[in-house]
Amino acid sequence: MEMKKIKMLFFLLLSLGIIAGCNTTENNSDKIQVTTTIGMIADIVKNVGGDLVEVNGLMGPGVDPHLYKASQGDIAKLENADIIFYNGLNLEGKMNDIFVKMARTTPTYAVTEKIDKKYLLDDPENPDHIDPHLWFNVELWMSAVEVVRDAMIEQDPENKDDYTKNAEAYLKELADLHEYVKAQVATVPEESRVLVTAHDAFGYFGNAYGFEVMGLQGLSTDSEFGLKDIKHLVDVLENRNIKAVFIETSISDESIKALVEGAKKRDHQVSIGGELFSDAMGEPGTEEGTYIGMVKHNIDTIVSALK
Ligand SMILES: [Zn+2]
Repeated sequence: MEMKKIKMLFFLLLSLGIIAGCNTTENNSDKIQVTTTIGMIADIVKNVGGDLVEVNGLMGPGVDPHLYKASQGDIAKLENADIIFYNGLNLEGKMNDIFVKMARTTPTYAVTEKIDKKYLLDDPENPDHIDPHLWFNVELWMSAVEVVRDAMIEQDPENKDDYTKNAEAYLKELADLHEYVKAQVATVPEESRVLVTAHDAFGYFGNAYGFEVMGLQGLSTDSEFGLKDIKHLVDVLENRNIKAVFIETSISDESIKALVEGAKKRDHQVSIGGELFSDAMGEPGTEEGTYIGMVKHNIDTIVSALK
C-alpha cells in the first residue's frame, strides 16, 4: 500500500514536471510554430499561414544576414519550431551548420531550393558561389512563396485549402508588384539606369528590370572594400555622369560616404539618393516592414533620385 502511494506520487510529480517543462520551452499556442531567418521570408509565412501560424523571425530590421551568428535564444527558437524556413544559397553563411543539424529533427526548407538553376546568378568574383539576393526579382521570389505553400501543406495537410487560397492571393499581389516596378523603371532614362550601392545585393533586380548594378563590396559583406574599389567606382561615377548613389539599411554608410567624398575631390557632384532596404526590411508596423512595402520604397527612392 505504502509503495503504491509513493509510486502514485512519483508519477504525479513526473507529469507535473513534464507539463511545467512544456510551458517553459514551448509556446502555449496551438498555432504552428514557424521560425525563419530574414524578414522577407517571415513575411511570406505570415501571408501564406495566416491565423494558422505563429512566426518567429530571427533577423529583424537593420540586421545583416551574411554576418549573422545565431544566439542561444535563436537556437531555442529553432529547436522549438515545428517548421523552419531559411533562404539558402549561403546567404546565412554563418548558420549553415545549424540548418544541417536542425534538418535531422525538424522539417527545414530553403525557400530557394526549387528555383530552376538557369535563373540563378553567379557571383562574378567567386565562381563557386551563387548570388543569394533573389528577392529583388519579384517574379523569382514568387517561387519562394510556392515553396512555403507546398511545405505548409506537406506538414499540415488538413489546412491545405487555406494555404492554397492565401498563397494565391499573395502571389497575385506580387504579380502586381512586379508590374509596378517595371512601370516605375520605365520612367528613368535608359542611360541613367545605374544603381551604385554598398554591396552587391541588387544583381537580380538589375537583371530583371534592366539596371546596371555596382556595389563597393561583393555579394557578401564578409569581404572588405579598399581604396582601389573606391577609386574605380569614382571613375565610373564621373565617366557615366551618375548623379546619385545609395545607402543600405543593414550596412554601415561609411563606404558610400567615402565614395561621395572621392567624387567631390574630382569636382563631380554625387548625392546620396536615399536609403535602400537590401538584406533586411523596415520596422514592424511600418509599410517598409513588409516585403511589398520595402520593394516599393526601394524603387520609388531609386526612381526619384535618378530620373
Ligand atoms: Zn547581401
